Amino acid sequence: MSGVSLIDRRRHWFKARRGIDAQEFDRELSFCSRTIDQSGALLISDARADPLYASHPFVVDDPNVVSYAGFPLTTPDGYNIGSLCAIGTEPHAFTSEEVEILSNFAKILMDTIELRQIASADGLTGAMTRRAWITEAKSELRRAARYNHPVSLAIMDIDKFKLVNDTWGHPAGDVVIAGLADLTMDLIRDSDLFGRLGGEEFALLMPETSADQATAMADRLRSHFETKAFDIKKAGPISCTVSIGVAHARSEDDTIDQMMERADQALYRAKTGGRNRVSLSTDG
Ligand code: GH3
Ligand code: MG
Ligand code: MG
Repeated sequence: MSGVSLIDRRRHWFKARRGIDAQEFDRELSFCSRTIDQSGALLISDARADPLYASHPFVVDDPNVVSYAGFPLTTPDGYNIGSLCAIGTEPHAFTSEEVEILSNFAKILMDTIELRQIASADGLTGAMTRRAWITEAKSELRRAARYNHPVSLAIMDIDKFKLVNDTWGHPAGDVVIAGLADLTMDLIRDSDLFGRLGGEEFALLMPETSADQATAMADRLRSHFETKAFDIKKAGPISCTVSIGVAHARSEDDTIDQMMERADQALYRAKTGGRNRVSLSTDG
């Protein structure tokens, strides 16, 4: 049996579980709450022989816990918020390798929980918020650098957008912004990171993508957007265009800020070059 549990003031509840029926129970009863009271792993090789646990209802009765390994889930600022546990109905002496594997799993879990929390989506578009995008883009860039894999960035900005707002009103502008986001999310890969940097400006980080592939992708987005008509009540169908700047990671110590700066310069060239176009940064 295994479970990922989270603990609040009174309850212990499973965020995920395998082979365990209970969904939640009182904190007092929980093995996991004992795990989080300590900083390292809680290892029990035979609960029936352990005076602390021998008469525990989960040992005496269903689910008949005999061996137990619990690892605290610790936030970056040091709070234990739950645990990852592996449970057996036979005695088991946990080896140091098993302990290391499980403790690594607990760290991966905590990273995922943290990322989910900050990866809150932008309300209008469903794209990542700027902050979430930057956090995830940084970690993606580190991963790409570690394995020496290509990664590209596109920054897009809707053309003459003030005119849409001024002519048809802010709500009409919102429809267009959400439309560009919808179209982008339809075209990109699951591994791409798409964020709204603000207003009508978006960023797309594309792992495993060369500069040429990224330019082609950006041009596909540009041309789809150009042909899309948005139904605005007062106006009937209106359409817009978008300009896109593309940059490619140059070396393993390229930062997201540097890439964004190069993509921005390329975007500026796309704007001054006449808009509705894609421009690739000349220096990476
Ligand atoms: P350019 O082609 O040079 O990009 O011209 P532009 O008019 O698009 O200029 P700019 O990118 O500076 O304009 C952004 C405008 O977007 C200004 C702001 O009023 C508007 N805006 C920002 N956030 C929102 C939003 O959430 N909804 C709507 N409807 N408009 C927004
Ligand atoms: Mg803008
Ligand atoms: Mg604009």
